[in-house]
Amino acid sequence: MAKTVLVVGAGIVGASVAWHLAKAGCAVTIVDAGEGGGLATRHSFAWINATWGNPEFYFHFRRRSMAGWRRLESEIPGVAVNWCGGLTWDIPAEDFDRFEAEHTRWGYGMRRVDVAEALRIEPGLRMPPEQALFVAEEGMVEPVEAARAMLAAAGGKAMMGTRVVSLVTRGGKVAGARIADGTVVEADETVIAAGTATQNLLETIGVPLRMITSPGLIMHSTVAPQRLLNGMVFAPQCNARQTREGRLIAGSDFAGADPKGEEERMARELLARVKALVRGAEDLDVGFITVGHRPTPADGFPAIGRPDGVEGLYVTVMHSGVTLAPIVGELVAREIAEGIRDPDLAPYDPGRAGLR
Ligand SMILES: Cc1cc2nc3c(=O)[nH]c(=O)nc-3n(C[C@H](O)[C@H](O)[C@H](O)COP(=O)(O)OP(=O)(O)OC[C@H]3O[C@@H](n4cnc5c(N)ncnc54)[C@H](O)[C@@H]3O)c2cc1C
Repeated sequence: MAKTVLVVGAGIVGASVAWHLAKAGCAVTIVDAGEGGGLATRHSFAWINATWGNPEFYFHFRRRSMAGWRRLESEIPGVAVNWCGGLTWDIPAEDFDRFEAEHTRWGYGMRRVDVAEALRIEPGLRMPPEQALFVAEEGMVEPVEAARAMLAAAGGKAMMGTRVVSLVTRGGKVAGARIADGTVVEADETVIAAGTATQNLLETIGVPLRMITSPGLIMHSTVAPQRLLNGMVFAPQCNARQTREGRLIAGSDFAGADPKGEEERMARELLARVKALVRGAEDLDVGFITVGHRPTPADGFPAIGRPDGVEGLYVTVMHSGVTLAPIVGELVAREIAEGIRDPDLAPYDPGRAGLR
């Protein structure tokens, strides 16, 4: 008989886990307190990348997931990544050479471009950089759309608008989860993909997993009638890209900084920076503002696996979940369906010392 798996959380990570589990032959039920499509996922900059000061093992894990996005595009109708590339010059001058040399040594398709080439890549730049790094293999995705496409393709039982209040144990093993109306959804395995709520859900059965959840604001402009940016730009002024709908979205400090209660002011400031950076943005206004919280395990790296000694329970929580969703879904499904833990998951054990 098919293994029954309950997935708690239908953001990009839960959606990918559910789809890969269904593909592996499991009977999947997915529950979400909202309408599906996630919380952090909805508020993400959604840049698919392997870069930014990561140690080599984590770089390679992210890169493996970038390839995973190409696989998902061919396997799931409605999953579409814009492989537009990323143009970066938001790097201190003293770090530029080392940053480029390190990533090139690791095999990243990174190349240095001068002002003329930067303008060929992004003709709309008002202040093109003297030198920048361009990574053609990076992409952007509309993350809620991608999560919903995965949910639709996963089939199974979807219980949206259903809040899990606690995990349920029986005979020392997790046997499912209790939902808000008091009923218990039973399963052979329960996967927690609940983003920032993960720590609280695990606490209901005394499993520790320390998290930090830093906020990040993204300004979404009104819709521009024409294409102003081809891909992602990481400039000292701000990080920006244009959505498929035509909005310019911008954040600062790794694609979204803490607004500290001053959302409106920060959004206006970002709009002004975008206008100074991109030609043709003059008539745009702030369309809407999002503030999301990054679901980050306390040491900054993903937590993917079974917490120590707890049978029937699996945890998947991470920042950069948009980049990592394909590899996480694939490897979680293999571990749950076939009992094989991929060696690349070794650094991400949720029971590791830094998370207790
Ligand atoms: C400002 C910002 C910028 C970012 N930029 C990038 C980027 O450029 N690239 C990148 O790769 N990543 C980025 N990230 C991180 C990325 O968005 C997240 O890592 C990813 O979206 C996490 O997905 P998730 O499915 O784990 O969580 P979520 O999207 O938060 O989904 C969790 C789901 O669980 C549900 N849930 C929670 N509690 C319960 C409960 N008790 N019962 C039922 N359901 C529950 C929620 O309703 C939600 O739908 C960014 C994040 C932020 C905030």
